[in-house]
Amino acid sequence: MHFNPYGGPAAQVAAALVNLGPAPASTLLATLRAAGMTFAEFSDDDAAVVNDWLPRLRQVFAEKDTDTLVDLVNRLLADSACKPYVSRHDGKPAHLHYASEHAGAALRVQAYTAGGLAHLVCEDPSRIGMCANDGCGVVFVDTSRNGRRRFCSTRCATRVHVADHRQRAASLSV
Ligand SMILES: [Zn+2]
Ligand SMILES: [Zn+2]
Repeated sequence: MHFNPYGGPAAQVAAALVNLGPAPASTLLATLRAAGMTFAEFSDDDAAVVNDWLPRLRQVFAEKDTDTLVDLVNRLLADSACKPYVSRHDGKPAHLHYASEHAGAALRVQAYTAGGLAHLVCEDPSRIGMCANDGCGVVFVDTSRNGRRRFCSTRCATRVHVADHRQRAASLSV
């Protein structure tokens, strides 16, 4: 849970969870562990709470208007009881945590993802992205150097470019 650019791993976890969609506890846990979070326990009840949280995270990635974006993120912070504090557990250097290690698993996921998106909004809201291929729905944190990422993958980019060309060719032939 370190303080990195563009919301750091916390914002990345938010994107990964949204892209995963509602999932059973074991799948959610694998994604969270891959992102460096540790849990003594992750129950089906925790999974249900996290799954209910996902549409709210998706809303943030989908929102283009900064005023609305800020409102959405502030609501996430309020509802997640995000309570940042500095930890030096396990001999690590001082770093920011978003919730107590002793809070329940679902609460920690809510606080962590809300905190990550809050950092990201403060740094650069344009880095919060959703694939510009309509109907794809994959979300991402744009960590590219120029901050102009529009698509989740080259596959989606190619698809949209091909469609644009066809449309142009069609309008020329009329
Ligand atoms: Zn830590
Ligand atoms: Zn896509």
